[in-house]
Amino acid sequence: DADLHELDPEVQQAITAELHRQQGTLEMIASENFAPVAVMQAQGSVLTNKYAEGYPGRRYYGGCEHVDVVETLAIERVKSLFGAGYANVQPHSGAQANAAVMHALLTPGDTILGLDLAHGGHLTHGMRLNFSGKLYNVVAYGVREDTHRVDMADVERLAREHRPRMIIAGWSAYPRQLDFAEFRRIADEVGAYLFVDMAHFAGLVATGLHPSPVPHAHVVTSTTHKTLGGPRGGIILTNESDLAKKINSAVFPGQQGGPLEHVIAGKAVAFKVAAGEEFAERQQRTLDGARILAERLSRADVAERGISVLTGGTDVHLVLVDLRHSELDGRRGEDLLHSVGITINRNAVPFDPRPPMVSSGLRIGTPALATRGFDAEAFAEVADVIALALTGDGSDAALDPLRERVRALAARFPLYPNLQEH
Ligand code: PLP
Repeated sequence: DADLHELDPEVQQAITAELHRQQGTLEMIASENFAPVAVMQAQGSVLTNKYAEGYPGRRYYGGCEHVDVVETLAIERVKSLFGAGYANVQPHSGAQANAAVMHALLTPGDTILGLDLAHGGHLTHGMRLNFSGKLYNVVAYGVREDTHRVDMADVERLAREHRPRMIIAGWSAYPRQLDFAEFRRIADEVGAYLFVDMAHFAGLVATGLHPSPVPHAHVVTSTTHKTLGGPRGGIILTNESDLAKKINSAVFPGQQGGPLEHVIAGKAVAFKVAAGEEFAERQQRTLDGARILAERLSRADVAERGISVLTGGTDVHLVLVDLRHSELDGRRGEDLLHSVGITINRNAVPFDPRPPMVSSGLRIGTPALATRGFDAEAFAEVADVIALALTGDGSDAALDPLRERVRALAARFPLYPNLQEH
């Protein structure tokens, strides 16, 4: 059997180039992370060959005795990690987990109440072109214009007025914590399901650094590749057995055919890692790094250029930079940071006057660098580089020293050192 580099050098070269990109630049996209080599080994295993429609012990294919072990490990570990009664680990992605939850609990045409995409919500929370926006009647809540925090009074008013069947709490771009107990109180008042999508902050929840939605929500979903640091994929958690049955049947046969048992193996490994002390220490550095970033991007020399940090800080793993009052727009900010070797994404901020393709925000996250080993001093250094790149004149004379500082940081915190020879 030929190796990849013999069989398909074009694909191999692109993979190698991507490895070098990840090693040589600083990854600060808030939804990204670096999976452990052990997770990638599980993903690259023979489990990819196996059909296993159904659930452990109840499969529609023979030969499932070993994948049953793997999937059961993943289920038991994630239940224990989050203190949940039931778990489905089969969703291929976060979006598919969310689709399955809605498929399980709603009928097309039902009303859902979720956070507006333009205010930090996710596509699957009711965006017009997404399945959620097409199948359901969407009502959106937002953040307050003065505080940029989710307005619970508005959530309550909209819930009373529209009587949604489901309220969705969770976000893709929001720097603060949500009040899950208050969301549940409102959901109970109007007879709605409370569905929490903790995709972004699940790693913080797993380590007790963020309140857990699991005791409050009817259903919780997450991706496994963001702060959780595992393979790309989704999970669904609930404490109620009748909901668990509906969810299992919505995932399979409702949405998916054969589960990706090689990815589920990667999830099992990631849940084991997430239960350990090193992971907890890493999540603490992730939070500390985001706070350092928020502080350094709030300094006078940055503020002078009309640049600020949304809500004035962060409680999570990301910072939203507000460029609404700056000449610099999101696209140019993203390009400037890319040119010095820092990868982030531009992001619309609430009440953004610029079009989404340009936008007035930058979303900057710390999980991937924390996984690389960044400590407070290294986060301070990268924060200063970002501040200088965003406030400078954009000339090579200004940017070259910053490129050198990024290179030095990347060299100080080697990524995947043992993958280098491939
Ligand atoms: N939910 C939230 C809150 C997200 O931020 C994301 C991804 O960005 C998803 C769901 C979707 O995850 P996936 O990209 O795995 O479909």
